[in-house]
Amino acid sequence: MKLVFATNNLNKLKEVQEMLPNSIQLLSLKDIHCYDEIDETETTLEGNAQLKADYITKKFGFNCFADDTGLEVESLDGKPGVYSARFAGEPSNSENNMQKLILDLEAKTNRKAQFRTAISLNINDNKFLFEGICKGEISTSKQGEKGFGYDPIFKPKGFNQSFAEMTSKEKNKISHRGIAIQKLVEFLSNYK
Ligand code: IMP
Repeated sequence: MKLVFATNNLNKLKEVQEMLPNSIQLLSLKDIHCYDEIDETETTLEGNAQLKADYITKKFGFNCFADDTGLEVESLDGKPGVYSARFAGEPSNSENNMQKLILDLEAKTNRKAQFRTAISLNINDNKFLFEGICKGEISTSKQGEKGFGYDPIFKPKGFNQSFAEMTSKEKNKISHRGIAIQKLVEFLSNYK
């Protein structure tokens, strides 16, 4: 079965393909010649993930899944959440986003936060949702050089390192996206 992952991120694509049974051939947006900008206009992670998967299934006719991730900070009532990429304004800039978050939390004692990933899957006219959560806290300054986005200021619960101090293998084992993808892969592996 051919299955589109609505992404052009080759790292994400490779990671998921390696976890899937050989009977499932994963295709990127480029593989199906989709070069459209799919605007994330919904107000929830689930809504955006579904919007992207639906766009591909409707326009290109493929079974498809899409993901959306947000950082939810407890003392900011779950913000930046679905707006994580544009927290410090547009165009999206990780450095500015991290600086804004550090500033916004300066006077707060509660620094608890969680990354949450929603994956929406369209398969043979059915829709399924998968969720992955990684709990942790926001540090007061950046630590580490690896990863991307908010990684240097996010310390997963039970660890003394930030995500940016972990190898991608270590991070994927415990990360929001890794957990959501594991659930998707388990579902697809048993799908008849
Ligand atoms: P996306 O849904 O994967 O595009 O993620 C939305 C935004 O959340 C990105 O722009 C990143 O800033 C942030 N983000 C998503 N996943 C991670 C992660 O694993 N580590 C750090 N930041 C992330």
